[in-house]
Amino acid sequence: MTASDALKRYREKRDFSRTPEPSGDREGALARPIFVVQKHDARTLHYDVRLEADGVLKSWAVPKGPSTDPKERRLAVRTEDHPLGYAEFEGVIPEGEYGAGVVLVWDRGTYRNLTERGGREVPVSEAIESGHVKVWLEGEKIRGGYSLVRFRGGRGEGWLLVKMDDGEADARKDLTSTEPRSVLTGRTLEEIAEAD
Ligand code: MN
Repeated sequence: MTASDALKRYREKRDFSRTPEPSGDREGALARPIFVVQKHDARTLHYDVRLEADGVLKSWAVPKGPSTDPKERRLAVRTEDHPLGYAEFEGVIPEGEYGAGVVLVWDRGTYRNLTERGGREVPVSEAIESGHVKVWLEGEKIRGGYSLVRFRGGRGEGWLLVKMDDGEADARKDLTSTEPRSVLTGRTLEEIAEAD
């Protein structure tokens, strides 16, 4: 499947003459795949966790956001693939549009794939299809290993996002509370809402 086919549902849901969200792709690929976590104050507040794979951003909506505590299992609902350019999107999606509300780039960086089977690396897109993926995130706020495991298939696939128990794990931290601002612009959700 090409990136263009993968983004069909993303495009169908949006009117690009009305929403400031990107319609297409960013040019070129970086040496390391990227990830982004976008705080999204829509009907309900959630964090969209997105991993670059196969030329798109594979996406999950995580109501509570990522935790640094390996004992916390965070619900992650799979959502449609987004274009790579979406990783830089911060702003207001207008009323009446899909996902209407404020989007803030909460964290971003690159990642390494840690998914293995029988001692061999499993490509991320294949790992997502099989419902089990492990990655090492190098963000500005979150770092270290995370696993995503599917527990429910069908529409609105249910997954669990869990911090792996490594040197970056820290049960005392609560980054979604202590670091609410955008890593792109330093703004809060309220400041983005006012500016747009
Ligand atoms: Mn969202």
